[in-house]
Amino acid sequence: MATVAFIGLGNMGGPMAVNLASAGHEVIAFDLVAAALTAVKEKGVQVAESAAHAVEGADAVVSMLPAGRHVLQLYLDEKTGILPALADDCLILDCSTIDADSARKLAAAAAARGLAAMDAPVSGGVAAAQAGTLTFMCGGEAAHFERAKALLSAMGKNIFLAGSSGAGQVAKMCNNMLLAIHMIGTSEALQLGANNGLDPGVLSDIMLASSGRNWSLEVYNPYPGVQENSAASKGYQPGFMVNLMIKDLGLAMENSLQSNSAVPMGALARSLYAAHGIAGNGEKDFSSILESLQARS
Ligand code: NAD
Repeated sequence: MATVAFIGLGNMGGPMAVNLASAGHEVIAFDLVAAALTAVKEKGVQVAESAAHAVEGADAVVSMLPAGRHVLQLYLDEKTGILPALADDCLILDCSTIDADSARKLAAAAAARGLAAMDAPVSGGVAAAQAGTLTFMCGGEAAHFERAKALLSAMGKNIFLAGSSGAGQVAKMCNNMLLAIHMIGTSEALQLGANNGLDPGVLSDIMLASSGRNWSLEVYNPYPGVQENSAASKGYQPGFMVNLMIKDLGLAMENSLQSNSAVPMGALARSLYAAHGIAGNGEKDFSSILESLQARS
């Protein structure tokens, strides 16, 4: 069993840290928000007063932060960056969804210190983070993958090596662009049915047994009341925030320019989510895009 520093205990990081501790690892965690520390402390995770304290002597660091700038600041900031403080054989696993360039920058800085860093973003959402059934998409050297897998398997059930450094982030970016597209499409179809007098639950059952079946419909139904525990049935409490989806779609759009890729559906999805965020919904769950398709009274 390993000693693991866990930085970033939000909607995803909190339950992931708890699962690592439940698997028998010694987990020492830090978050800027005190309430996030209290929540994990009750569930077997030790807490530290700073990221620098958390990483002292750790075999591995797992980070789960909002965006690339937070990750680069955590590890590489000239004054507060933790990279110089890491033990000589410490493995860095950044599970945040960030741009591939930032992931490569971190891996290069780590390599210059003789350390291994892998990007390991996740898919599955908060329910999978809690259940320990996340999918991990890793980018880095195959030589470090087995070591990473030993830790990630405490938090997820599907663990892929997507390719070299940054490849995990590219896989995640492609996945989330597709997720945004099918969440919007699912919302449109359910609202169209409801506007024609259909029960959205019955329509969902029909489409789940038909060719419209998809993850948003099956696991994350955006229509309130169709699934008891969905974000939609809880006032669109996140879950996965609209602001984070806008960030992810922005990463896909930037990359599509760099790689000269045509992404017409992704571009439309980004605009729809951006408008939804501007309308004051940034902190709601991303399935709340359905509300933007409903008539206002
Ligand atoms: P969140 O906003 O709930 O949590 C982020 C946490 O990081 C917060 O608690 C914040 O206080 C902490 N933080 C920020 N800067 C910090 C620093 N310098 N030191 C310590 N803590 C710091 O976000 P989340 O939903 O947990 O998402 C985290 C990452 O996972 C994002 O990149 C997101 O895109 C990705 N992701 C989220 C989901 C989801 O369903 N929520 C699913 C897959 C991937």
